[in-house]
Amino acid sequence: MGKALIIGAGGVSNVVVHKCCQNPEVFEEICIASRTKSKCDAMKEKLDGGKTKIQTAQVDADKTEELITLINQFKPDIVINVALPYQDLTIMDACLATGVHYLDTANYEPPENPKFEYKWQWAYKEKFEKAGLTALLGSGFDPGVTGVFTAYAQKHYFDEIHTIDIVDANAGDHGYPFATNFNPEINIREITANGRYFENGQWVETKPLEFKKVYDLPQIGPKNIYLLYHEELESLAVNIKGVKKIRFWMTFSDNYINHLTVLQNVGMTSIEPINFEGKEIQPLQFLKAVLPDPASLGPRTKGKTNIGCIIQGTKDGQPKTYYVYNVCVHEDAYAEVGSQAISYTTGVPAMIGAKLILEGKWRKPGVFNVEEFDPDPFMDELNKQGLPWHEDFNPTLLD
Ligand code: NDP
Repeated sequence: MGKALIIGAGGVSNVVVHKCCQNPEVFEEICIASRTKSKCDAMKEKLDGGKTKIQTAQVDADKTEELITLINQFKPDIVINVALPYQDLTIMDACLATGVHYLDTANYEPPENPKFEYKWQWAYKEKFEKAGLTALLGSGFDPGVTGVFTAYAQKHYFDEIHTIDIVDANAGDHGYPFATNFNPEINIREITANGRYFENGQWVETKPLEFKKVYDLPQIGPKNIYLLYHEELESLAVNIKGVKKIRFWMTFSDNYINHLTVLQNVGMTSIEPINFEGKEIQPLQFLKAVLPDPASLGPRTKGKTNIGCIIQGTKDGQPKTYYVYNVCVHEDAYAEVGSQAISYTTGVPAMIGAKLILEGKWRKPGVFNVEEFDPDPFMDELNKQGLPWHEDFNPTLLD
């Protein structure tokens, strides 16, 4: 059916590549392109010989011209951006210049002033409309599946949604005293920033990790959950009409919080460059270099993740509650594709989003977040592609 250019060769890309190869009737040809070509070649070596044809390429995705040249050579139908959020705009520009659909899993951040905001990418709406191209933003798990879960609840179970609590739990154990499950720079920045949630049309700011609760998660058990800001809150606040409150919660162990607190206290999580023996270094990037590579955690990580949405609202004038979640087993993800569940739960929805665009089911001109499309085909694919979901109509609520 089509050709996909996959940019980036990290943990998430590895899953996207495997999943595209499991769906060769849709992904007839893929090109894996990244800054370090040897990582792309290693993936090709593992998967070559199947029905999906695989090419690799070197590209600096910060440079639109390089991307345009590559796209013109490979001629993909879609670009799946699983590099870093800093590359979103250069890749969107290249897609516009070459007439190719676009998908990513994380919103653009300017490197010098990182903020989780959609405004830069939403500003491309008219350009994509005029070009007749689809740009699908945030098609990972969160953002991504959490938006699809909410749209599904809205479509099938609610007249009005009042409260959305997204709970993201990772009960996996990799055996290291401290490591981050995905790109440490992005992960640590997310946690050390102030928290924020949406209430009655306003954003309420909190101190980092100020709100903590215990939640008993299906298949995992009770865990400490902390309120954080997360990028899907911004789009859900716009796209779920009438919603009064949206919060995002993530589990962290006491051990994780202790390590992070020390690293923060000694200045290692700062993104302000410092001069060290005549060389400019950014402490957080240096920290990334000494921490275990998230890609190396796969074989060591055991346990489960549970990510879902607890939704409250009304149906036919009656109050209604609904909890929809996925449980992913780290060992099973590793056995299937050689990555742990965090990469797996991001890469599978990225492939699904691309598949629906190529099949024409999720194709319309403009820039969209996942909750703006019909959730049903995506929900069907989740069950088929390794991320089955569960429903509970009487969940414990977060006050
Ligand atoms: P990794 O750090 O493992 O991989 C990123 C890849 O991008 C690396 O291969 C890196 O190259 C490549 N890259 C970085 N800069 C450039 C550049 N200028 N040109 C070309 N390639 C580049 O990250 P992950 O795989 O863990 O994450 C990928 C994306 O997924 C991130 O944007 C992350 O925020 C997002 N994500 C989304 C989630 C969701 O649920 N929505 C959850 C988890 C992650 P090199 O190998 O040379 O370093």
